[in-house]
Amino acid sequence: MKNTLKSKKRFVQEYKVFSIGLLFLFVFISSFSNKKNSIMTKVNQNSVIAHRGAWKQAGLPQNSIASLKQAITLGCIGSEFDVWMTADGHLVVNHDQEFGGLDIEKTNYKDLLVHKLSNGEHIPTLEEYIRAGMENNPKTRLVCEIKPSEISKARGVSIAEETVKLIRSLNAEAMVDYISFDFEILKKIKELEPEAHVQFLNGNKSPKAIKKAGMKGINYNYMVFKVLPKWVKQAKKEGIILNTWTVNDPEMMDWFLKKEFDFITTDEPELLLQKQKSLWTEGNS
Ligand code: MG
Repeated sequence: MKNTLKSKKRFVQEYKVFSIGLLFLFVFISSFSNKKNSIMTKVNQNSVIAHRGAWKQAGLPQNSIASLKQAITLGCIGSEFDVWMTADGHLVVNHDQEFGGLDIEKTNYKDLLVHKLSNGEHIPTLEEYIRAGMENNPKTRLVCEIKPSEISKARGVSIAEETVKLIRSLNAEAMVDYISFDFEILKKIKELEPEAHVQFLNGNKSPKAIKKAGMKGINYNYMVFKVLPKWVKQAKKEGIILNTWTVNDPEMMDWFLKKEFDFITTDEPELLLQKQKSLWTEGNS
């Protein structure tokens, strides 16, 4: 009887030791796999945004559908483009206010078709651009810059309304980020689409002020962050997304990668992707 009691006690003790050991093993394995997962997530989510598409190395025109497709092929996390509205209300994609010497805002869409991009494309409509961006695109976000109107503030706001309407009609809301130098344009987008990812470009509002205004991110000229590095810290503290433009210098790329920006906008996406990949490889070895 005494012996049975003793062996029972031993069994309970051994069972306890075994359970604690098992628990430690579980914690160890899960912390290891979490670490691995976070690295994997990072690998899958580079921070490279191709500025006006991936045009430079591929020798393509900026803001062309071909440059967007190239950014998707490279696997950039985003591809940026610029939106204007023609005199007769068509939304088109082009960086400059002029296309082929014609002021886009004062020209009807069909008159813009007289001119071609250097690869033979016509000036893309926003609809064509978004549709192209939705094809065979597993991860590249469409970073839509709405240009403030040179005609009036109100026209800029109505471009924002038309853009949101179009994105909705194409069911592309989840893959579009909005950026603008005009705060009123971003405010209108937030009003129409409260969950929209909007980033302010102008560089004159602190991350705190951006959060207060209900915006998701800042996307400032790289010099702003060089002069005000405290804004990087503040943005991280406030949960504000960090993006910067246009980072083409290799040393500057290293600086922003080290600061772990969510996004870095560049004309040299191939180089930035390569740099980020090397960092991950170093981190894994
Ligand atoms: Mg732009």
